[in-house]
Amino acid sequence: MRIRRLKLSGFKSFVEPSELRIEPGLTGVVGPNGCGKSNLLEAIRWVMGEGSPKSLRGGGMDDVIFAGTATRPPRDFAEVSILLERQPGDEGPTGESEVVRRIERGSGSAYRIDGRDVRAKDVSLLFADAATGAHSPALVSQGKVGSIISAKPTERRLLLEEAAGISGLHARRKDAEQKLRATETNLSRLAELLSDQEQRAAQLRRQARAAERYRQLSDKIRAAEARLVHARWVEADLAATAALKEAKDAEGKWHPCRAQWQTPSRHRTKQPHR
Ligand code: ATP
Repeated sequence: MRIRRLKLSGFKSFVEPSELRIEPGLTGVVGPNGCGKSNLLEAIRWVMGEGSPKSLRGGGMDDVIFAGTATRPPRDFAEVSILLERQPGDEGPTGESEVVRRIERGSGSAYRIDGRDVRAKDVSLLFADAATGAHSPALVSQGKVGSIISAKPTERRLLLEEAAGISGLHARRKDAEQKLRATETNLSRLAELLSDQEQRAAQLRRQARAAERYRQLSDKIRAAEARLVHARWVEADLAATAALKEAKDAEGKWHPCRAQWQTPSRHRTKQPHR
């Protein structure tokens, strides 16, 4: 991977949009003290995902935004874009890719790769796969040459790993380990949820059995009540038939008298008292 171009706008002393082309060979930036040479290297580290304002010589991340001068007002945002070129043999598809980081005062940073919004992690992985990144020992800041010479073996190991091109694998392993830990946590939560659900299912099974027993008993009670009503009805019907028969018999007994009453009214004499 090669860095072809760096564009800055509102970043530190680069208030106006500025472009730095990095051509094949050696590119140097020459200028007097305090003209902003170190700011350029910091811009490269910042766009690669640097998260520590201290290592960018600031107190907070908003300090990378142009803070204004006696004659110019401060800016509300800073943006740095880096144009990368991948050659055959490099990780990922070949061709150009543009990575942009933008910060707005009080709102934090946002990243884009080829116009797509991405996470900071995606950007650091892209550079880690190319064996570089914001913390690459290949980016030597002002006054840091000595620290490389006197580096501890573990720090020197980072340098060697980067040269061997395996720092991307390390980043991915860390990522995979984090995902594994998150999955393990999810699995143990799932096991807890499963045991809760099993308890609840057992309780529901007990309730279902009780409900089924209640339904069967209700059916039996309804059938018994129906039989009782039927028996009462049969009893009442028999009583009614008996009463009717009794009434008819009684009526039959009165018949001779009625025959006597059935004489025409003009001949009727005074009716006898019942
Ligand atoms: P030296 O050779 O002394 O290290 P340099 O050329 O590397 O200098 P830098 O240290 O990159 O210069 O730039 C420092 C300049 O950037 C200073 O003039 C400082 O005022 C300016 N600067 C840094 N941060 C901001 C900011 N947020 N807003 C405005 N100017 C800034």
